[in-house]
Amino acid sequence: MNYQADEKGYYGDFGGAYIPEMLYPNVEELRTKYLEIMNEPSFVEEFNQLLKDYVGRPSPLYYAKRLSEKHNTKVYLKREDLNHTGAHKVNNTIGQILVAKKLGKNRIIAETGAGQHGVATATVCALMGIECIVYMGEIDIKRQAPNVARMKMLGAKVIPATSGSKTLKDATNEAIRDWINNPVDTHYIIGSAIGPHPYPDMVTRFQSIISEEIKWQLKEKEGKEDPDYVIACIGGGSNAAGTYYHFLDNPDVGIIAVEAAGKGVNSGESAATSQLGKEGVIHGCKTLLMQTDDGQITEPYSISAGLDYPGVGPLHSHLYRTGRGEFFSVTDDDAMIAGLELCKLEGIIPAIESSHALAIFNQKKFNPDDIVVISLSGRGDKDLNTYIDHFKL
Ligand SMILES: *Cc1c(COP(=O)(O)O)cnc(C)c1O
Repeated sequence: MNYQADEKGYYGDFGGAYIPEMLYPNVEELRTKYLEIMNEPSFVEEFNQLLKDYVGRPSPLYYAKRLSEKHNTKVYLKREDLNHTGAHKVNNTIGQILVAKKLGKNRIIAETGAGQHGVATATVCALMGIECIVYMGEIDIKRQAPNVARMKMLGAKVIPATSGSKTLKDATNEAIRDWINNPVDTHYIIGSAIGPHPYPDMVTRFQSIISEEIKWQLKEKEGKEDPDYVIACIGGGSNAAGTYYHFLDNPDVGIIAVEAAGKGVNSGESAATSQLGKEGVIHGCKTLLMQTDDGQITEPYSISAGLDYPGVGPLHSHLYRTGRGEFFSVTDDDAMIAGLELCKLEGIIPAIESSHALAIFNQKKFNPDDIVVISLSGRGDKDLNTYIDHFKL
């Protein structure tokens, strides 16, 4: 079994590049050059330097003693929450801004739903002194005011998407329209392991620093590189792809994906894509996707803005279909309880996205000597109001 994207960007049945003809030159330029650029010594050097000095990597692999005792297994947390900007997303935006520079681009566009990817993009554009335009649904702009303010402080221009449902998919349409109109000077930074080839593979490679570090960190702590399980929440699937990457070919390492069930998988308000989705095309790739019988994309729901996405990256659809990954879905309520548990047991306030991964212990029992690594994808500062409302704090 192969878990790498092939020449055309397929992971088994999923992936590819389903794009309008007018976007072809942009995507083709990136496809023919991304691997060569990523392998240039000057690129590798600058990427690693920035990950170290700007992002603060390596992020610790923390043995969570009290959490381990509670669940009677050995739990390590990969602390992506300690990165600059508070989540894993910056690993990818640093990588892509460096690719953009090598391609000679001087203008960056992005789309954002919750605003997290917009902030990570605005951050690296400020770092490099490059113009940044972020498309965001008009409704999301109202819902995510603090992140809009952050992007503006960082010098980005936030343009509202006023069509359709005025949310993420409409912002995506606007970004694609912009890219078609500005093919020469503009790079489009996609924020998860989704999009037309080569994006899923490129984003996965940038995020694979997570599992690269886990291997040597675990070797130091446990005397072996491979855990028994790696666990991550999945929105589009970038923190998960990075956490799994170096373990994909080792069947002794169990791969666990946690999706957002929202108010329940069958409630009509959910984002459990692997269970509810059917094959379709979203954001330029073929993947599992929540859709109506007519193939219209269904509006997803999750209490966690970062998991509120109707599709899942093509690698994850492949892991699901082949059975290489074990997929679970966690409700809003269970995620919130698991998040609060981590606060009380370890003194760490997790992002609600990451809380979904932590809720795995309700659904799966591990052996006492299992080594279980959970990706703590982000910190909970951005979610304080949601925690306050939920628990009436
Ligand atoms: C955006 C986000 C996610 C979901 O995105 P993936 O691409 O699935 O990783 C998860 N956790 C946090 C903290 C996020 O900001």
